[in-house]
Amino acid sequence: MATFGGGEAAGAVDSASTGQAFYTSAPPAIDAHYPACSDNNMNTHRSVAVIGAGPAGLMAAEVLAAQGVQVDVYERMPSVGRKLLMAGRGGLNITHTEPRDAFRARYREARGALEPMLNAFGAEALREWVHGLGIATFVGTSGRVFPHEMKAAPLLRAWLHRLREAGVKIHVRHRWRGWDGEGLLAFDTPQGKRARAYDAVLLALGGGSWPQLGSDGAWVELLEARGVDVDALRPANSGFDVDWSEHFRTRFGGNPVKSVVATVRDAAGVRHQRHGELVVTATGIEGGVVYGLSASLREAIEQNGAATLELDLAPGWELTRLIDELSRPRGSRSLSSHVQSRTGLKGVKMGLLREVLAAEEVAQPERLAAAIKALPLRLVRPRPLAEAISSAGGVRLDALDERLMLRAMPGVFCAGEMLDWEAPTGGYLLTACFATGRAAGQGVLDWLSSGDLGAAFK
Ligand SMILES: Cc1cc2nc3c(=O)[nH]c(=O)nc-3n(C[C@H](O)[C@H](O)[C@H](O)COP(=O)(O)OP(=O)(O)OC[C@H]3O[C@@H](n4cnc5c(N)ncnc54)[C@H](O)[C@@H]3O)c2cc1C
Repeated sequence: MATFGGGEAAGAVDSASTGQAFYTSAPPAIDAHYPACSDNNMNTHRSVAVIGAGPAGLMAAEVLAAQGVQVDVYERMPSVGRKLLMAGRGGLNITHTEPRDAFRARYREARGALEPMLNAFGAEALREWVHGLGIATFVGTSGRVFPHEMKAAPLLRAWLHRLREAGVKIHVRHRWRGWDGEGLLAFDTPQGKRARAYDAVLLALGGGSWPQLGSDGAWVELLEARGVDVDALRPANSGFDVDWSEHFRTRFGGNPVKSVVATVRDAAGVRHQRHGELVVTATGIEGGVVYGLSASLREAIEQNGAATLELDLAPGWELTRLIDELSRPRGSRSLSSHVQSRTGLKGVKMGLLREVLAAEEVAQPERLAAAIKALPLRLVRPRPLAEAISSAGGVRLDALDERLMLRAMPGVFCAGEMLDWEAPTGGYLLTACFATGRAAGQGVLDWLSSGDLGAAFK
């Protein structure tokens, strides 16, 4: 059996961890956060490979190392946590403070499966964990939780420091390629191909969005070939294409549309609604309200070939008042000046009305008022997965047991965004990645102590 040689220590260094130390004193030791485990001594003879050094994999590594397991984390990129760091660029939204029931409902069909893991490590526990790293958090006006400095880098630095102290070894530039002919884990490394065996393997390989940050979804084929049931990766929290006219695209592409209420009806006729802002792009629309509705919009397109997103461009106005105002005589003013002076609508909102309505409809006060309150936009396809914030689809939850071990592959566990759940932006994505990472780490511990190792799929 070929194993990694001593040159590995160099590979264990990553750029995020070599940055300036965040702490003036050392962060609390890792075992301050985990209950003592009576099997600690037994675990020191156990070795586990965690593949993928994003939030889910690192959390699993932390749980395992805290109980004395020898943990090797493998990451294909030259440094760890690239998507987490990217998430911090726009303000790292770690979790949300909304009431428990509303929070759980964000995970839609996956709610039931995720609930035990969120019970064990949900929004409050996650916040405390962040505080334990020496990072203060605050709650924004929308209820979203952010680190005080908004960025992910200080959190990641403190975390990596703590993981190293706990003995976790991180091997960057190691791309996992599946299993070799002897059933060993196969890696492409800077030193060439390598193979290695462990007592258990924990996969935390992410979804397929933003592949330039590391998670490219290449694992789907590897697991499917081993009989694992995977739902195709699809864009979640994505923009959508609209067949804009050339005139509209050129004139309004890049313009934000502020304060709109967007509504979509799902296949069961249930209305889903978001209040906020969207952005007109050269190809369609994107932004907060669109991401929030993207699961329903994507499903409508899958079923019907297109989805209708209704926009209320004047949320504070009653329809009757709009009709009254628009019906007043406009004298010599242009129609646009008339609409702007009576309703305040102008610019891209007026452009949207002209894009969707025929010229004669814009001139009819009742028709125009109805369109202002419910302008139907026809969305023809989601933007590609590579551009989306996150992925839908992944390893089907019923392909895993309650320890997050693959039923088809004893000894192989999965966590994070590679599992088949989706959620809107708002901190729900990271919360579930941390919660499933922790649950899978605990699942490995349970399995290691269950005496089932003989059945392991190496
Ligand atoms: C722009 C952007 C902003 C975001 N902002 C937020 C936010 O504010 N709040 C929030 O909750 N969520 C946010 N997210 C989503 C969040 O970052 C992800 O859901 C989360 O990082 C997923 O964690 P993960 O550990 O499952 O996977 P990842 O973070 O994707 O980590 C998986 C790791 O596995 C590695 N890997 C993959 N294949 C292999 C292989 N074959 N061999 C070795 N290594 C491999 C990858 O390189 C990667 O480092 C954002 C996402 C994006 C793109």
